[in-house]
Amino acid sequence: MIDASTRLCCLIGHPVSHSLSPQIHNAAFKALNLNYAYLTFDVRVDELENAIRGLKALGATGFNITIPHKIRAVRFLDELDEMAEKAGAVNTVVIKNGKLFGYNTDVYGVEESLRNLDLPKSKPALVIGAGGAAKAVLVALLNLGFRRFVIANRTIRKAEALASWIESMNAEAEFCGLDQIKEKSAGCGLLVNATPIGMTPKTDETPLTSGEIPRTSIALDLVYNPLKTRFLKEAEKAGAETISGLSVLVHQAAKAFELWTDCCPPLEVMWDAAAQALRGIYG
Ligand code: NAP
Repeated sequence: MIDASTRLCCLIGHPVSHSLSPQIHNAAFKALNLNYAYLTFDVRVDELENAIRGLKALGATGFNITIPHKIRAVRFLDELDEMAEKAGAVNTVVIKNGKLFGYNTDVYGVEESLRNLDLPKSKPALVIGAGGAAKAVLVALLNLGFRRFVIANRTIRKAEALASWIESMNAEAEFCGLDQIKEKSAGCGLLVNATPIGMTPKTDETPLTSGEIPRTSIALDLVYNPLKTRFLKEAEKAGAETISGLSVLVHQAAKAFELWTDCCPPLEVMWDAAAQALRGIYG
């Protein structure tokens, strides 16, 4: 029940109407009997600074940040953790003693989703996309020990910029356009889709089909609506191991929950709430 002691956590983004975060976090607060509430706020770009200062003034416990504010929000924070610094983007903020601390729990979400697998680190990882999610994936893969990458993107100059950044991290990267991924995928051990390709309503789209996916590879799709994208279905058909974007979503939320509450996140509750919310929104 919301009362005068309820602590506020929230999401700011534009748009926020399809977010699963309220269901995930409120289910977790309820499961642990914590007096917290999670809301969403649709914040325009020109109101971002006011929104962040307002949340601090109101004494909120913390907030998540989503598209299109993840990069721009950095300038309004007091401190960044190492992952947020590396990714150049923030998706979680903790407000403590009047200071704003920024984190990138997307990096953590990717790492946790891959952690218990036998990762093919001796082969290059193919990352499709060159936006904020791709950068978080690359930071996570560097943390996990990958040292060779192929970055493919619709706009080649963005793939090139990410490849230069990878080289500045003492790793190797090739870059290419989306028309070349079919040739590149054969030599790669981990394949990651970090674009909206295959997302509802365009569920018949995929960056690769089964014949282009090595049997021994691992495929991770950051898209989680639908839960099993065409890319993951094609990877399954090829005999590859598959990981859904819902895993990344739930693990990034779990880390944010821990940062705000200092409690161990109830992962299963969070996963069930996310899956149920997905079914509610997309059927
Ligand atoms: P972003 O910064 O806007 O970048 C979008 C990327 O996708 C860019 O590389 C863009 O290419 C590419 N792209 C967009 N539309 C495309 C299309 N029709 N065909 C081919 N490429 C296309 O967004 P983001 O934050 O990186 O997010 C990317 C995806 O990851 C989204 O679907 C998002 O929902 C998902 N995501 C999931 C999680 C999770 O927890 N599972 C977390 C973060 C993001 P250009 O550079 O050519 O525009």
